[in-house]
Amino acid sequence: MPARSSTERVRLQNSMLVVRALRRGGRLSHTEIADLTGLSSATISAITADLEHGRVIEKQESQATTGRGRPRMLFAQRRDSCYLVVIIISSEAIQYSLVDYGGKLIDQFSQPREAGGVGSFLTVIRAALERLAQRSKITPSEVRAISISSKGLVSTDEPLLLWSPVLGGEQVDFAAGLQPEWTAKVLLSNETLLVADALAEQHERKEGTRFRSLVTLSLGHSIGLGIASRGGTGNIDITAPNFGHMLHMPSGALCRCGARGCIEAYAGFYAILRNAFEVPKDTIPAKFVPLPEVDKLAASARHGHRMANFAFREAGLALGYGLSRVLSLNGLMPIAVTGPGARHYDLIRGGLEEGLSQAQIVRMQGLPAISVVADEPLLVFEGHLDRALAVMDEEIIMAGFDRTAG
Ligand SMILES: [Zn+2]
Repeated sequence: MPARSSTERVRLQNSMLVVRALRRGGRLSHTEIADLTGLSSATISAITADLEHGRVIEKQESQATTGRGRPRMLFAQRRDSCYLVVIIISSEAIQYSLVDYGGKLIDQFSQPREAGGVGSFLTVIRAALERLAQRSKITPSEVRAISISSKGLVSTDEPLLLWSPVLGGEQVDFAAGLQPEWTAKVLLSNETLLVADALAEQHERKEGTRFRSLVTLSLGHSIGLGIASRGGTGNIDITAPNFGHMLHMPSGALCRCGARGCIEAYAGFYAILRNAFEVPKDTIPAKFVPLPEVDKLAASARHGHRMANFAFREAGLALGYGLSRVLSLNGLMPIAVTGPGARHYDLIRGGLEEGLSQAQIVRMQGLPAISVVADEPLLVFEGHLDRALAVMDEEIIMAGFDRTAG
């Protein structure tokens, strides 16, 4: 990257302000951009002209709402400027989506996940990417970012999947695995981190800077946790601590990760089933439990079946104790419960609240607000768009500057 003069740096910052305003506000007029960014009219004219010339944004005509007067000129991202691919990996399937630079979904398909190691896993993904590009007649070089999510443990600074329910401890280096055909920026996120991102974004849109923080708890075969909180700079920081594999009970029940006593080994779907059917706690966990089986168990718990009730309560307790530690470390925050297991929240709630109440902060300040948020897949997808499009904006502006500077 060439060294930049201070005037160049200011222009770069101002350009970022403009593309971010367009990302948040949708189509905007010159005056609206000025209101949102605080930049002078002359600066905005220079930047929008540059961005138009670089085919990053375009002018669109909008009919005046009164039906009279001149149509307004609005700026928007040029949709075909570049593309984003979203890959969502779950235990059962991999979903591929193609999204344009404006954030519009163009194509989407899912493929059942096949058994096999990392090598065949990456081969399958490369073939699906090729199919995705061919169906929309775009070339790999037009794809600027590939945003991937999985449950499990993700490296924070590289697209490296360290541990996943799907492949276990076999690490996956996605950036290396998709080269040389795919040179796009590869982003990898923990799935619950994306949910926390999308929920924080929704809250911020409604509440503005009054929004401070939230915890997202994802229930299902595995247990995920995301924390969104406003940092010192005023930005929202999102993290996904390894909550599901945090210790609940020393030398306790056997977890899918191989350790004993993790929260997941009490609250994951397989753990609830194992408990309800009184299977020994050191039995190797099932690889995958279909949701209807857990629903059936929930139905019998609601009809008063003692062991089924006990299993959901144990799950609630493990989650509640874990959350009490999270809140003791981070302060009181509202909790959003999501994931396929959120539909059994009525059965988990008692144990969860009891566990939470063990924290002094909860005893003093009361239980935090707890809400159940359905439609996790939609939140995961929104989280992908929010994060990846912001990265694409940055990359595209930097690339433009490097071109003119070099
Ligand atoms: Zn574990």
